[in-house]
Amino acid sequence: MRSIDQPVFRKSPLFLDLWAGRQGKRGSSVCVRAMTEPTCHTVTITLLLEQSDDESIWRQAAAEKIGVEPSLITEIRLKKHSIDARRAQIKVQLRLDVAVNGKLHLEPECNPSYPKIPSGAKRLVIVGMGPAGMFAALRAIELGWKPIILERGKDAIARRFDLAPILREGRVIEDSNYCFGEGGAGTYSDGKLYTRATKRGPVRKVYETFVEHGAPSRILIDSHPHIGSNLLPNVVRAMRETILASGAEVHFEKRVTGLIRSSNGEKMIGVSTKEGQEFIGVAVLLATGHSARDIYHLLERERVRMEQKPFAVGVRIEHPQPLIDSIQYSYKRTACRHPMLPAASYSLATKIRDRGVHSFCMCPGGFVVPSATESDEVVVNGMSLARRDSPFANSGFVVSIEPEDTEDLRREHGVLAGVAFQKEMERVASRAGGGKQKAPSQRMRDFLKKRDSADLPDSSYFPGLTPAPIHALLPKGVGDLMQEGLRHFGKSMNGYVTQDANLIGFETRTSSPVRIPRDPQLLEHPEVEGLYPCGEGAGFAGGIVSAALDGIRCAEAIASKSSEVSRLRVNLG
Ligand SMILES: Cc1cc2nc3c(=O)[nH]c(=O)nc-3n(C[C@H](O)[C@H](O)[C@H](O)COP(=O)(O)OP(=O)(O)OC[C@H]3O[C@@H](n4cnc5c(N)ncnc54)[C@H](O)[C@@H]3O)c2cc1C
Repeated sequence: MRSIDQPVFRKSPLFLDLWAGRQGKRGSSVCVRAMTEPTCHTVTITLLLEQSDDESIWRQAAAEKIGVEPSLITEIRLKKHSIDARRAQIKVQLRLDVAVNGKLHLEPECNPSYPKIPSGAKRLVIVGMGPAGMFAALRAIELGWKPIILERGKDAIARRFDLAPILREGRVIEDSNYCFGEGGAGTYSDGKLYTRATKRGPVRKVYETFVEHGAPSRILIDSHPHIGSNLLPNVVRAMRETILASGAEVHFEKRVTGLIRSSNGEKMIGVSTKEGQEFIGVAVLLATGHSARDIYHLLERERVRMEQKPFAVGVRIEHPQPLIDSIQYSYKRTACRHPMLPAASYSLATKIRDRGVHSFCMCPGGFVVPSATESDEVVVNGMSLARRDSPFANSGFVVSIEPEDTEDLRREHGVLAGVAFQKEMERVASRAGGGKQKAPSQRMRDFLKKRDSADLPDSSYFPGLTPAPIHALLPKGVGDLMQEGLRHFGKSMNGYVTQDANLIGFETRTSSPVRIPRDPQLLEHPEVEGLYPCGEGAGFAGGIVSAALDGIRCAEAIASKSSEVSRLRVNLG
């Protein structure tokens, strides 16, 4: 299969013949050969939006690109779909696999096929069943290990019932919420799968694993794929069923509160839970996410070295979706979105005085959700359903925080100064919101003019909003950077700055303020043998896909170290 943007006859001897034939330099026999010999091609075509779902037009455009008659095309398969809305005339780019006079290669079946774990397999204790923990488990199974997964929250379906008290009564259940439970923080999210971490591992394999477990196959094609929080819980459940069917163990409602070391204290060999149960293995993979603050405190008590790292804080900004559509698709605010267009998204980033100011985790047609893990805090994030059809567009809008910004907290909180910084913001938001998960909010132009909002526009945030001076509540310096950033974005995205948008406080859990270090090759903690920090909580991922990739890498590193050790033992007799 070859990838071409230029007509293939420039590269292929076959079509060189055909081209020459067309030019009249060769006889018609060449054309006949071209018509009978089966060939496969990959072509990229660009069509007007309205034409883009018409297969007969794909055929014509592909035939033109390849340089054959459309009737010679025997099969077409869509491989990539992306919308180009940079100009008023919206176009769609399609990458197609095309067979001429033959069949395309069969696509591999999307069915999960994982081996049964052999008896006597080495046990890998995995703490946390977010994307990092789940993908580590699946890879460990492929490598012949037995994963033992411990998850503080409930299974994805039972977990759904624990979201109702947060939304309706403003009561956070500490082990079962938008961050904790099967599938981790990604289960009730937008399920955006777009990642820039393409060099960190097999992104396509991650997508295929989701599809094998019930995610729509469309995620293999879309340039910015997403699953949606109405579908994700079932995908996660199916992944658990695969893990269990192989013979691995999954234990819900098991909050890990202790670490177990070997008798000489040098090696991590297991963990203990709140109830005092112990789980022992050859290695411990710690994939507890960035909201498991108790785990950071546990590591601190156990003198496991951690480091401060930059993170980002700010607000969630919510606009009416039709406004974002009209800006991004260049049409009048009063017009309706073309039915072939998805709810529009955006991604904005700039540097102000060397500080990153950027939008984060944009959820078109989504909802702002309360993602705190304790009742005395308010934290906001975003999610969408598969159809992204709510009337609101929300996105994080954050400023980077460097370790030096938390200097004054370091004396009391040491390496966890960033966690204390986040927590303080979350408490401020809770007090300003007035309790019960109500969040403080301000209209965008009022924020820019540092004045109170008398009222607020409609919002998707279910627990409710309280008008509050976000500009004054934000930590020193953060509000100023956000104001400059907003003015800048208002110029690059005309109409973005509006009184119709809400700033909702606070978005504090964009990434971990802590890194649990690890050896770059072995992926093991440099000073604690057998401990594998993994995923977002360890500071090595920033989203569903990058966390999944990190899980895969860690499982491979664990297996490869173990087989290397066994090989050395054999060689040494
Ligand atoms: C509302 C929301 C929406 C999001 N939307 C997106 C999105 O659209 N796209 C995207 O890429 N990312 C999104 N994210 C971020 C994404 O979910 C995370 O980056 C990703 O889940 C990190 O994976 P992880 O496995 O490292 O950690 P997590 O997903 O956080 O999983 C950690 C798991 O460990 C468990 N755990 C914690 N402590 C313990 C303990 N002591 N004992 C046992 N278990 C423990 C937790 O319960 C949790 O299940 C969103 C996050 C939220 C909160």
